[in-house]
Amino acid sequence: MAIDDYIAENFLDDDPALDATLAASEAAGLPEIQVAPLQGKLLMMLAASLGARNILEIGTLGGYSTIWLARGLADGGRVVTLELDPGHAAVARKNFENAGLADRIEVRVGAALDTLAALHAEHAGPFDLIFIDADKPSTPDYFDWAVKLSRKGTLIVVDNVVREGAILAAQSENKHVKGLRGFYARVAADPRVTATAIQTVGNKGHDGLAIVRVIAEPD
Ligand code: SAM
Repeated sequence: MAIDDYIAENFLDDDPALDATLAASEAAGLPEIQVAPLQGKLLMMLAASLGARNILEIGTLGGYSTIWLARGLADGGRVVTLELDPGHAAVARKNFENAGLADRIEVRVGAALDTLAALHAEHAGPFDLIFIDADKPSTPDYFDWAVKLSRKGTLIVVDNVVREGAILAAQSENKHVKGLRGFYARVAADPRVTATAIQTVGNKGHDGLAIVRVIAEPD
């Protein structure tokens, strides 16, 4: 889209590592459902602004957003990224090596509800920034785990929270819409967090990102 291109021309540098990541992901047959470049840069800037040393991502795909997140890490920090599909995880690991970031990114393969429980049992948190971008029906449960793995001040970012306005359909039987509406309801009822969402337009269509800040020390 022309406006994306205009902003990107002004605000994004040439990026051979991310270009190679996208090319390798496409060559491996992964779906093109990664975040848009300008949104990836937002993730990097949020991480850097938080001084994040411990970042969690739910939904790796080929690791495009993971690379942006890892670029925002403070020195010595790490990203843990969770992926169901071993094929996606293998492509992502190769992309991290090629981007020179493999030493600070850990990919855990499995259903995120299981790997999140394992992270919690290991006391792997608290995380400073958590990006939720996996199967949408589980988003309310991912949000619950994210808060458990947070500290006061953690930011939780959730992708695809507008879906071209489909989230307005209260009676929708669409499982993605139901999942996201469940997420909104969870956030609204949780006094430990405060939240906003920004609608996004551009080469990924009309969608949105929710940004949730944990404002109380979770149990
Ligand atoms: N965050 C990535 C990016 O922007 O580059 C895109 C992630 S893509 C939208 C969603 C990913 O979540 C897919 O790779 C999919 O295999 C993974 N996924 C789906 N269900 C999952 C589950 N139950 N546990 C973990 N990952 C899952």
